[in-house]
Amino acid sequence: MPQEVDLTRYIPSMAEVDGAVQPVLIPERRWYDALLSGEGDDPIERWNSKVFQDLNSPTASIDCWTWTASLSEDGYGEFSLGGQKARAHHILWALEHGSPPAYVYGPNGWEKVHLGHLCHDRDENCEGGPQCLHRRCVNPEHLALQSHSANVRSGLSGEHQRRKTECPSGHAYALHGFTYTDPAGKTRRYCRPCKSGQRAAQFVGSRKSMEVAA
Ligand SMILES: [Zn+2]
Ligand SMILES: [Zn+2]
Ligand SMILES: [Zn+2]
Repeated sequence: MPQEVDLTRYIPSMAEVDGAVQPVLIPERRWYDALLSGEGDDPIERWNSKVFQDLNSPTASIDCWTWTASLSEDGYGEFSLGGQKARAHHILWALEHGSPPAYVYGPNGWEKVHLGHLCHDRDENCEGGPQCLHRRCVNPEHLALQSHSANVRSGLSGEHQRRKTECPSGHAYALHGFTYTDPAGKTRRYCRPCKSGQRAAQFVGSRKSMEVAA
């Protein structure tokens, strides 16, 4: 449904929604400012310590990355940053793509847009709802902006351009890590397996708590 939107409260931009670049409106988000500011603790380190990825899985390169910390009532991961509770799956995606928009301008005017889980859309057997494990997935490769009206199950193939660069240990960033542009415009790379190797004990803890929760 088209919405009345107070345009002064948003930053106009362009973003890929439902697979096509379209005009969008981005709200101010304190967590996004905090993410980029580099002040305080290292939010990415803190975020990463709450993510479980089974690197021994034969399908590790395409598996979900599961949030092991607190969940919202509707089953999405929550991450406190900048004095706000952010959706955990927004954090890494935002580093790569920018702050997630709230509205997209479609054929019927402004309508709501959300960062949807392609892994859920691809799983014909998942009934969705707060128990859907895909909602806990924070793998940015599994996420895409979706308009409220788009038929997500049929409309998106989930094909994403894969980056081919590797970390010094040979992990493909596209599969196990990510690249992003820092506030100075410099391209930064982050390898999750290498980072998590430094904090193996915490990862074991995360896995344990996830098994209990499942
Ligand atoms: Zn996923
Ligand atoms: Zn699901
Ligand atoms: Zn690595």
